[in-house]
Amino acid sequence: MPGYDVLVIGSGASGLAAALSAERSGARVALATKGSIQSCNSAKAQGGIQAAFGDDDSPEQHAEDIWKSSHETANMELVTVLTSEAPSAIHALEELGVEFTRENGGYRLARCGGASRKRLLQVGDRTGHAITKALRDAVEASTVTVLPNSPLLSLDEGWRARVGEHDVEATTVILAAGGRCFREAEVRGELSTNHPGATGEVTQIALDAGAEARDLDALQYHPNGGSWPQNMQGYSIPETTRAYGAVLLNADGEEFTDSLGPRDVVAQAIVDEVAKGKGVETPDGRPAVYLDTTRIPREDAEISLPYMLRRYRAAGVDPLAEKILTYPVLHYQNGGLVIDTDAKTTLDGVYACGEIAGGTHGRNRMMGNSLLECVVFGRRAGRAAATAAR
Ligand SMILES: Cc1cc2nc3c(=O)[nH]c(=O)nc-3n(C[C@H](O)[C@H](O)[C@H](O)COP(=O)(O)OP(=O)(O)OC[C@H]3O[C@@H](n4cnc5c(N)ncnc54)[C@H](O)[C@@H]3O)c2cc1C
Repeated sequence: MPGYDVLVIGSGASGLAAALSAERSGARVALATKGSIQSCNSAKAQGGIQAAFGDDDSPEQHAEDIWKSSHETANMELVTVLTSEAPSAIHALEELGVEFTRENGGYRLARCGGASRKRLLQVGDRTGHAITKALRDAVEASTVTVLPNSPLLSLDEGWRARVGEHDVEATTVILAAGGRCFREAEVRGELSTNHPGATGEVTQIALDAGAEARDLDALQYHPNGGSWPQNMQGYSIPETTRAYGAVLLNADGEEFTDSLGPRDVVAQAIVDEVAKGKGVETPDGRPAVYLDTTRIPREDAEISLPYMLRRYRAAGVDPLAEKILTYPVLHYQNGGLVIDTDAKTTLDGVYACGEIAGGTHGRNRMMGNSLLECVVFGRRAGRAAATAAR
């Protein structure tokens, strides 16, 4: 049974950031993940990552927006860490080679739902892909032992883990296995934006070992799932479409909500509008409203939405020439394992970061704060777990 200082579970942005930071803190690290090292939700993230870089912005303003969007349910100790370390997290990603889209000598910033300022950094509309690739390249070039196709099956105090066909001993463990929206959508018979590995069993293993959790019932619907064409169903239309001018319209062509409101408010407004009989139907009979993407200036779309344009055009629809059909889709687990500011759970020697952890977003996450949480708390978890293992 090989022994390590730190065992990381999961290879999304949070697991990769944690493994790298633990290794750089001098720990012997193993990273076990369910499928291939590339398989995760993080790589699917398109829209961007929040950090207060605008002249009119500050970490305090960022924190205030989170507090309001969470309907005053977020853990403000975690939020203060998140927003104050956001700029340094961005610089750390740049050192690994991530090239955020720039304009006029600074970052190209967009305003996302619930935000009072333009604060969203982007890498075109493949932000998650760029971040995970840079982190993965760094992990693969490090001394971290990567165990693909090695799902966590059991965790016994001490800590001894069964990961696929391997038994691994480690002084500390970092759980970074993401959320459960893929499985939850299957149970509900709904569409989800998530990758098939988002099934939540690692949370259950931690709960069985006695860890505390919060807000596990608070699941987030992305307001804009693709509704048509059929092969775009379950696709998450980036919120940046709305940041760059797209608006939601009902069957009569009327705006019925603030298209840049908090996610839960916008998603509920769409559901209510359809329930009032003011929605439209897709050719296969699904409920929908319009997202008027024709209002996005061509230049903004070409710089910040090229992947979305390619996907729709390949499916036979040009979003700059016609409105697209959308309806909320199951997307994100807001709650999760209780952590402190070092990402330590209520179990000794067990840390959690990323979507599997709760508190940072309260019961309603703002877009762009999840990738940020992965990097900020992934780095903290790695450092703290390496220190504790010594
Ligand atoms: C389509 C889409 C678009 C998004 N857009 C944005 C955005 O623009 N901005 C933003 O901030 N956030 C966005 N998000 C949310 C964000 O990407 C995720 O919440 C975040 O990246 C989660 O990272 P993570 O590391 O916690 O989990 P993941 O990236 O999901 O990684 C979890 C890892 O754990 C592994 N795993 C699961 N179970 C086990 C097990 N039993 N044993 C071992 N390994 C296991 C998985 O295989 C995976 O490698 C988006 C999400 C989706 C799905």
